Amino acid sequence: MASTALTYRAYCTQWEEQIRAFIEMKEIPDRAFTLIPPGDSQGKGLAGLPFAVKDNIAVQGFSLSCGSKLLKDLRSPYTATAVQKLEAAGAWVLGKTNLDEFGMGSSTDNSAIQQTNNPWDTSRVAGGSSGGSAAAVAAGIVPFALGSDTGGSVRQPASFCGVVGLKPSYGAVSRYGLVAYASSLESIGILADTAARCRSVFAAIRGKDPLDQTSQDAPAGAAPLYGQNLSGSPKVIGVLSAAAIAKALAAVAAGIEGSPGTKETAAQAASLEREVQQGFELAKTRLAALGHRLVEVEIPSLKYGVPAYYTIATAEASANLARFDGVRYGRRPPEAENPEDLIDKAREAGFGPEVKLRILLGTFVLRSGFQDRYYLRAQRIRMGIRRSFEELLGSAAYGRSETPRCDAILMPVFPTRAFGRGDAGETLSPFAQKAADLYTCCANLAGLPALAFPVSLAGGLPVGVQLLGRAFSEAALLDLVEAYEQAHPFPHPAAYQAFWP
Ligand code: GLN
Repeated sequence: MASTALTYRAYCTQWEEQIRAFIEMKEIPDRAFTLIPPGDSQGKGLAGLPFAVKDNIAVQGFSLSCGSKLLKDLRSPYTATAVQKLEAAGAWVLGKTNLDEFGMGSSTDNSAIQQTNNPWDTSRVAGGSSGGSAAAVAAGIVPFALGSDTGGSVRQPASFCGVVGLKPSYGAVSRYGLVAYASSLESIGILADTAARCRSVFAAIRGKDPLDQTSQDAPAGAAPLYGQNLSGSPKVIGVLSAAAIAKALAAVAAGIEGSPGTKETAAQAASLEREVQQGFELAKTRLAALGHRLVEVEIPSLKYGVPAYYTIATAEASANLARFDGVRYGRRPPEAENPEDLIDKAREAGFGPEVKLRILLGTFVLRSGFQDRYYLRAQRIRMGIRRSFEELLGSAAYGRSETPRCDAILMPVFPTRAFGRGDAGETLSPFAQKAADLYTCCANLAGLPALAFPVSLAGGLPVGVQLLGRAFSEAALLDLVEAYEQAHPFPHPAAYQAFWP
């Protein structure tokens, strides 16, 4: 088991010691065996379970590298609220998992620490940025893991690795202890082997936290997480056609200036690979067979989703990452002429190229005189996308008498299955990876919950789809997916070997 696990290299630090300690049943911190029975409805069945935590979420005494050279040696002095709640339910942290530096990427290859391989095919990426967490769950190292989702970083690696990935509603889970990338877009999310497990973890970690002013409890009218009848009433599921979005995007690309190669890539990146399209069709057939009514829907403004997402995300990143100056955080350079020189040198040596690119982009869109052109425009697009979803799904105002057209919206997660690393020609350029965030980033722009789950295997690689719901409708999404997975359980990769009770 140890060698299998190490092959995946899902972990950043403490990996070898922790996994060996666990296997040999020695030198495990005492708290690992402190079984605290969970409360009646909170975090059912978590006692005694090991879990992994993305290395941008704080766990006292563990690393908090954020996948960055700059923070490689940092040990966290405190623990994130979500982790604390899981520990209180009796689960325990096995280790920290690898990620694209500061959550910026879709492959986990942007990590300065190491590479993470996909348990289904170790020559391919696990997805990102929560690739380490997804690989750890897929390999059977842990039954669940925490990740963070700013523009798809929980759902895309979940799809690449054949596990369930939940991005909760904005504010449903405290972000206290999550190192910020783009604060207005991100949530701590869950990667789990099943939707049932995902529900237990979500039940344990959600809720208002005085340490995060944006966190809140579910509104009074929202459906309870437990007590629903899974085989209950049929739902109306809106189906967002990828073809329509790709066509709209191609039309936009034709009208903008830029090198032809760039325009083509942006439009192509939204078109689904044949195997992904087939998986999407299979999900539709199966959901219909479970009794749900499927209706075609359209959200034309989604074609502007990626530019809006990258404008807002990089603007916020440029501000959030300003704290890593080699003085308060980060490795201090051995010598410097003056304080500015010290900061320059620390950031130059500490940040990787993708992070630098995004800080530059963020600074550019916020430049005085340019805000109208980029940042404010992106915010208007964001509002438009949010309104379009609300028209279909209803808003977070559960008290109002609205009759939403759909209970959930079915969408692809990513246009391809797990991609390779170059030699095989099955890789995706950094630009194509960004353009492909189209299907995931809209849930973050709109603040909605989205649940990705695996539906098929094609060429030995998993294909996932996602369901989006109105704000704080996680219960409805989990009900749908739990009923789906009871009818269609998903297999594990060949080397899978779970070793928890
Ligand atoms: N792929 C997206 C990006 O690179 C999503 C990242 C995330 O959700 N943290 O920004």
